[in-house]
Amino acid sequence: MSLFKRIKNERMAQKGRASPFHPPQRTLMGPGPSDVSPRVLEALGRPTIGHLDPEFIHLMDDIKALLQFAFQTRNELTLPISAPGSAGMEACVVNLVSPGDTAIVARNGVFGGRLIEMVQRCGGTAIAVDDDWGQPVDPNKIADALKAHPEASVVAFVHAETSTGARSDAATLCALAQEHDCLTIVDTVTSLGGIEVEVDGWGADAVYSGTQKCLSCVPGLSPVTFSERAVDRIRSRTTPVISWFLDLNLIMGYWGSGAQRAYHHTAPVNAMYALHEALQMLKEEGLAAAWSRHARHHAALAAGLESLGLQFLVDHEWRLPQLNSVLFPAGIDEAAVRRRLLAEFDLEIGAGLGPFAGKLWRIGLMGSSCNQRNVLRCVSALESVMAGSGNGSAIAAANATYVD
Ligand SMILES: *Cc1c(COP(=O)(O)O)cnc(C)c1O
Repeated sequence: MSLFKRIKNERMAQKGRASPFHPPQRTLMGPGPSDVSPRVLEALGRPTIGHLDPEFIHLMDDIKALLQFAFQTRNELTLPISAPGSAGMEACVVNLVSPGDTAIVARNGVFGGRLIEMVQRCGGTAIAVDDDWGQPVDPNKIADALKAHPEASVVAFVHAETSTGARSDAATLCALAQEHDCLTIVDTVTSLGGIEVEVDGWGADAVYSGTQKCLSCVPGLSPVTFSERAVDRIRSRTTPVISWFLDLNLIMGYWGSGAQRAYHHTAPVNAMYALHEALQMLKEEGLAAAWSRHARHHAALAAGLESLGLQFLVDHEWRLPQLNSVLFPAGIDEAAVRRRLLAEFDLEIGAGLGPFAGKLWRIGLMGSSCNQRNVLRCVSALESVMAGSGNGSAIAAANATYVD
């Protein structure tokens, strides 16, 4: 076929489907992504520059410093992996687990299960320590597993289980691992920016997060940070990391301090602008202020939801303010409710996972989504969809918590 004819054919094929995609304006109150602020979206649209441009190298340094602030760490090896949270999880596992290693992995929801699968794919042995979904990880069970498996070299757990809304005691779990000379892998995908994360304070070794939960940045990046002990272990490996892309020995050449910034892969340049802006916003607000904002709006949402007869899955002490798992009364067509929230209110909430599929909703209050307007919108929308028109009592219950 001649080139001319080829172009003509292409033009014909494109006719009728050349319209741009305009997404609807949703309010995102599910398990992520959360609402991305206009400031972050504006940053995303700035001119693309080269990923080895000196100006971009400055930006990388700034992002590293901002991530150290967000994670509360001095770890040199702190950077965003160029892929979503699951890639950060995998970066921690593939670098710290060598074939034949034993890792103790807490499983109290979906993401602990994913960690186990990754350990096994690295040729490691995963010792699963199970807790009921909705419960925190039980430190006593981890202590028992550490005693029963002196050969273990890693302890992995999820700080904020997004599948259930339960927080676990990261400081205690990291201290236990240290007593047994194990390195820790800690999932802070949903916690970072929403509740206290203290990487150095905990003594955690390999910590990963995501951009689309409480950082309210666009999805697709995974901040990670590694302690010196973790870096030593990675440097002294005798077998190559099974993933080329996630091998930190190679990535350190691009992100490491004083490194030559050798080409490794093309960084997602514009997404980095967005992350920089989102982290800057967190710094302007302050970590403690961000955590207390999540707590305040969670209290209002909880009052509204409970007045609608919805019950929290997780006990008060372990509840994540940014992920509210609520069980609904029998007889509710839960999928229909979510469909109506989306269609009539442009409001997204999350469904239950695993054993809780069809039994609960997961209502997120993450980052930019965590504000009074969203709380009231969610409570009133649920009230009107669940109870016909509603009488406004749920709104009143939520609003009452804001008065003091
Ligand atoms: C969302 C999430 C992940 C995975 O992140 P993706 O960006 O979806 O890959 C991992 N762990 C937890 C706790 C999460 O909430």
